[in-house]
Amino acid sequence: MPRFEYAPAPESRAIVDLRSWYGLFIDGEFVPPADGGVRKSVNPATEEVLAEVAEAGPADVDRAVSAARTAYQRVWGPMPGRERSKYLFRIARIIAERSRELAVLESLDNGKPIRESRDADLPLVAAHFFYYAGWADKLGYAGFGPDPRPLGVAGQVIPWNFPLLMLAWKIAPALACGNTVVLKPAETTPLTALWFAEICQQAELPPGVVNILTGAGPTGAALVSHPDIDKVAFTGSTEVGRQIARAVAGTRKRVTLELGGKAANIVFDDAALDQAVEGIVNGIFFNQGHVCCAGSRLLVQESVYDELLAALKRRMGTLRVGDPLDKNTDIGAINSGTQLERIRTLSQIGEQEGAQPWSPPCQLPERGFWFAPTIFTGVTQAHRIAREEIFGPVLSVLTFRTPAEAVAKANNTPYGLSAGIWTEKGSRILAVADQLRAGVVWANTFNKFDPASPFGGYRESGYGREGGRHGLEAYLG
Ligand code: ADP
Repeated sequence: MPRFEYAPAPESRAIVDLRSWYGLFIDGEFVPPADGGVRKSVNPATEEVLAEVAEAGPADVDRAVSAARTAYQRVWGPMPGRERSKYLFRIARIIAERSRELAVLESLDNGKPIRESRDADLPLVAAHFFYYAGWADKLGYAGFGPDPRPLGVAGQVIPWNFPLLMLAWKIAPALACGNTVVLKPAETTPLTALWFAEICQQAELPPGVVNILTGAGPTGAALVSHPDIDKVAFTGSTEVGRQIARAVAGTRKRVTLELGGKAANIVFDDAALDQAVEGIVNGIFFNQGHVCCAGSRLLVQESVYDELLAALKRRMGTLRVGDPLDKNTDIGAINSGTQLERIRTLSQIGEQEGAQPWSPPCQLPERGFWFAPTIFTGVTQAHRIAREEIFGPVLSVLTFRTPAEAVAKANNTPYGLSAGIWTEKGSRILAVADQLRAGVVWANTFNKFDPASPFGGYRESGYGREGGRHGLEAYLG
């Protein structure tokens, strides 16, 4: 197969004007933290420090929650929905206008390829704000009674895999419904949330409606256990989700948790195999596999196993790993040294348990955090790499003979966030989808998102739904 050599075409770093230090965004202003804590945000592709960011302590959490409470009672709660929607439309438009700059910043701070931040994350972020802006004055028609009420102050904690998109999933519906928020971005990816704070200023959002507290686990823990929070929304690991569920148990707080996954991507023998290969690659290597709904367990019907594996390996040989700002890059940097360690450890366990790893030849950059796209064959359901979320570019391949076996294997997981089905038969799609215990089932595609479509899990993947009309319910009393 001929190999094309692409000229590098990096998006310019120069369009991102970073300050050396960022404070906390409380009550409409950037302020220093009460106890002066600070943390560095690093570019995972180069290990260069991008900026220093304040670390919020309990006193800051208190200050932010109280600003959010005042804004809720005096301004945002009483404001008619049609007025709130104007602010949300304004925020959506500013995001769309500044999307190139935000995409570069997201790739710098997170390590994801610019092709994804520019063409997937940012358009979805703007779409989310546009979508929920449209709901703000129509809540009485959403099916939750004639006059649904907001909950109050929402404490929101998000992960590092889609920093700005997760912020949009949390903030847009909360604000549309009349709640105010205190949001904590992940410690390794705080920068786009801080830029979003500037966008709130630019949109002249009333002070205190959105507050952004940077910091790590303890800041998140202080936020979710603050007594004056009415609602907790969390996206992240199942382990931290459990801790949060324990922290809020017995309180009046409403909770939604969007946690881990170990999705089955099922390829039947009548599927269009080349198309399925694209879907498998997108399912597991999109965003370096840092995706809770990633198709990390490939289930292949035995009769097409050899053909599919050969095609998948050929396709993996064309993936380009490297500089996230090069628009030809398919796989960027692993978000942090800690995450890289986790991926390495689980992959070593896979080998020790007898599965066979395979990666295409690829040269990884010397500095930064990198992991070559990898598939494991000879995986059984008992292997840890078939059960635990690796959250990296690592695919476990299993086989099946009958549709019933495919369904049984797909459902044999503590999670239930997503699944994929590849087949030419419409009736099989419907029959299998009906039996899969997963919040989202994609057919002949994977990792497709739309603000109008609800997203969420079964079992240890969490509870509650984000997106669509369902996403409003989580913020209405
Ligand atoms: P990941 O697997 O994506 O690293 P984590 O669940 O560790 O996910 O982190 C997701 C978010 O939860 C981050 O913003 C992190 O700082 C925060 N966090 C970690 N520990 C806690 C905790 N005990 N309480 C609340 N938030 C936490």
